[in-house]
Amino acid sequence: MTKILIIYTGGTIGMMTDPKTKALKPINFEQIMDNVPELERLNCQIEVRSFDKIIDSSNMNPDIWGELATIIESYYDRVDGFVILHGSDTMAFTSSALSFMLENLAKPVIFTGSQLPISAIRTDAKENLMTAIEITSSMKDGRALVPEVGIYFDYKLFRGNRAFKYNSSKFEAFRSPNYPVLVESGVHLRFSENYIRKPNNEPFKVHKNLVNDIAVLKLYPGMSAKVAENILHSDVRGIVMETFGAGNTTTDAWFIDILKGAIDGGKVILDISQCKVGAVELGKYETSSQLKDMGVASGFDMTYEAAITKMMFVLGQEQDQQKINRLLEQDLRGELTWY
Ligand code: ASP
Repeated sequence: MTKILIIYTGGTIGMMTDPKTKALKPINFEQIMDNVPELERLNCQIEVRSFDKIIDSSNMNPDIWGELATIIESYYDRVDGFVILHGSDTMAFTSSALSFMLENLAKPVIFTGSQLPISAIRTDAKENLMTAIEITSSMKDGRALVPEVGIYFDYKLFRGNRAFKYNSSKFEAFRSPNYPVLVESGVHLRFSENYIRKPNNEPFKVHKNLVNDIAVLKLYPGMSAKVAENILHSDVRGIVMETFGAGNTTTDAWFIDILKGAIDGGKVILDISQCKVGAVELGKYETSSQLKDMGVASGFDMTYEAAITKMMFVLGQEQDQQKINRLLEQDLRGELTWY
């Protein structure tokens, strides 16, 4: 029998409407279990760890990612996989962060949650939870079929650092346009084995040093020099710059000067696109050719969530600007397609 650890952090899946305020607020895991008697009938052994403080995922932060990583580390040799119940709002940030923190992962770490509370009549929580457990416990020749961090939602398993929440009202809350779905659930579970990461048999290692000394600059036509300067010259180590199309910025001299000044001052700039599909291609247009020479790192087709958490992770690993840039541009956990 496979052994699964469920880690309950919170989210809509475990919320109930407060009769007084009518707002959704968290319930404990026992109350969740009461709504899913089917859990008892599963052909696997389930243990549950509930966070002391159950949270709406908008309150998620790197310290809590560290707590999650610590729990996974302490159970790693005792269980076959992990299912993490988490709010959908920041699920893609946590799954991306965990993908970087858990090096040489050989067991499934599957995030799920729901758009409706588990007690609601039309809830999506039961299917999400039951199938996430089934995928996590799926084995072939004694090995996990999905030995990576994933998000299971609405009949699909996505790579955790490739997905993002794109819809706050449909059950189909997540998408992963730059990487194929790993598992599709219908009458059968269809595993796309070619797209699932293979474990490399190196020892499992957990990294908890994340540096959140970062900022984001989202470009728009009409941005003033004052705004660009405030962010690019702020007192942080790394900046994720959300650019136009294939990684382009204005070529106006004032902007290039501010950007160059930031890099010369030691900051790391990671260029990702505001487009959700496709990739940054530095040098494709005149409006991005000087960025590469200046020392801007290309984020290729990384999601915003992957870029933010990778920046925090890499800043925790390296001090040297060039080495940081190299790591940012490298595919560390299947988070980018290198062009
Ligand atoms: N606000 C909730 C959360 O992220 C939404 C959800 O769970 O879907 O915790």
